[in-house]
Amino acid sequence: MLSDGVLVLNRNWSAVHVCTVKRALTLLFQGYARVVGNDYQIHDFDSWRELSKHVEQNGNEFIHTPGYPILVPEVILLTGFGKMPPRTVKFNRRNIYMRDHYTCQYCGVKPHREELTIDHIIPRSRGGRSTWENVVLACQSCNSSKGSLLPEEAGMQLARTPKRPHWLSTLRSTLKGPERPIWQRFVDAAYWNVALEEE
Ligand SMILES: [Zn+2]
Repeated sequence: MLSDGVLVLNRNWSAVHVCTVKRALTLLFQGYARVVGNDYQIHDFDSWRELSKHVEQNGNEFIHTPGYPILVPEVILLTGFGKMPPRTVKFNRRNIYMRDHYTCQYCGVKPHREELTIDHIIPRSRGGRSTWENVVLACQSCNSSKGSLLPEEAGMQLARTPKRPHWLSTLRSTLKGPERPIWQRFVDAAYWNVALEEE
């Protein structure tokens, strides 16, 4: 449970990261963060510990420290790093594969990863650039039948319009524990709806 995820908000209440419960408690203890409760109340270490004492044991998750149990925080608010910007997702191979779920975006097959290629929707030979919006995964067979054509010229259709992924989506594969319903209030709806559809 100490390695479950806690959503981190910057001082502007924008979701910027997910850290572990262990890290969140350390930040809380050191005074660098506050816990955001269900009712949007914010708590420092002492008031969170006090609250933990009075919350029912049933249906709530606790960390058992020597002396007293502490409720597992789900969202924390940083007090110090005011300008911490939301993360951006690096444009690289690994993240393209993750965004497209190792699936050919034209025919939907999910071959072995060595058999996937990165296709430029507008081919490079026709000025297409390497951007989130212009590359998708394609199986070898779709890639070769598309060649240097546009999808519509080749009679092919994309499963979805490619976009820059949300930073949270690239953390999901490494994240332990579930995404908490309360996170939805701080993470944009576009991400959340996509994430739910993929379940
Ligand atoms: Zn294909």
